[in-house]
Amino acid sequence: MKCCENCFEDLYLVTKIRENDERGNCEYCDNENVFIIDVDQLTQYFERLFKHYDSTEPYEHFHPAIHDDPSEFGDMLITLINEDWNIFSYEIEGTGKDETLLFDILNANKICNDPLDYIDPYNLYSRMTKAFTFVHPLEDWEKTWETFKEELKHTNRFFPGTQEEVFNNFDDVLYYRTTILSEGLTLYRARMGEHPIDKMMTPPVDLAKAGRANPKGISYLYCAIDEPTCVAEIRPWKGSKITVAQIELKKELRVVNLLRGQLCPFLFDSPYKVLEIDKLLSHFSQELSTPVDPDKSEIEYLPTQYITELIKTKGFDGIMFKSAMGPKYNIVLFDENNAKVKEIETLIVNDIIYEYDND
Ligand SMILES: [Zn+2]
Repeated sequence: MKCCENCFEDLYLVTKIRENDERGNCEYCDNENVFIIDVDQLTQYFERLFKHYDSTEPYEHFHPAIHDDPSEFGDMLITLINEDWNIFSYEIEGTGKDETLLFDILNANKICNDPLDYIDPYNLYSRMTKAFTFVHPLEDWEKTWETFKEELKHTNRFFPGTQEEVFNNFDDVLYYRTTILSEGLTLYRARMGEHPIDKMMTPPVDLAKAGRANPKGISYLYCAIDEPTCVAEIRPWKGSKITVAQIELKKELRVVNLLRGQLCPFLFDSPYKVLEIDKLLSHFSQELSTPVDPDKSEIEYLPTQYITELIKTKGFDGIMFKSAMGPKYNIVLFDENNAKVKEIETLIVNDIIYEYDND
């Protein structure tokens, strides 16, 4: 059986199918003259995905003495996979074609093999993380991270002893979250007040205040991917005059993407690796996008400044992270010489939208 590039949303699979370089008609989504592949070519990747799930078992996922209906604890495999990942295309997701394709791929090489090997679509499945005996590979990492933050703020600033433990898997995070920004990409940067075009880059080092990414005295270029985000980041008040610059990248840059986002499950032989990297990434991304009280910011920014400098020492040009104030994301460049101001405009902020939750 042949499936095609249009069956999948996942970029890793789409790339594999295009690399296969065979065109024809898809037997699942009915697209014609598209890149196709034999389902058994994808089995090795889906076996990795399948490791994230177990069949729902008594004493492992539910207690039969208390619960007589295991279907409350287990689910169809396709339902779990569609909830957890973005693998199948919107065209076939939820149509039943996705389920047929999933099991055709999983069972492709098993026709003559042991029936015990067969993965049964009518079985109930549970996430591996829901098993009673499941232990997260970074079970106590949060505690270590809190200890690290306290040490950095109040005990050892430059040579914290807990550094090694906290950043044990950090290189993996960086590797899988490297993003290339192309030459000529336009970013946005705002400043309070009216400024000439030559005053829109970083402040001189002796005036550089501490920020989320930089300590006092070290200047980085704070930009955002769009105008509303860069305006929100400077926290203007209603009626204030601001200057917004369009900043153009002079060359291709390598940055670390610390936005929350899923790792590709097909890359890793061990599902535990996915859980580890995912946990670190979500912590760092949360840390970077949590609003900080401006009066306390100098000390509260220390952990994110530390993460940023660690990334800089590994040779990256910057980081991107979700804005704490605006709708999209920020990009901080370590060296302003990699960018130049294209044009500026002066704006009056005429409205500010506040969102709040009850405490
Ligand atoms: Zn297809």
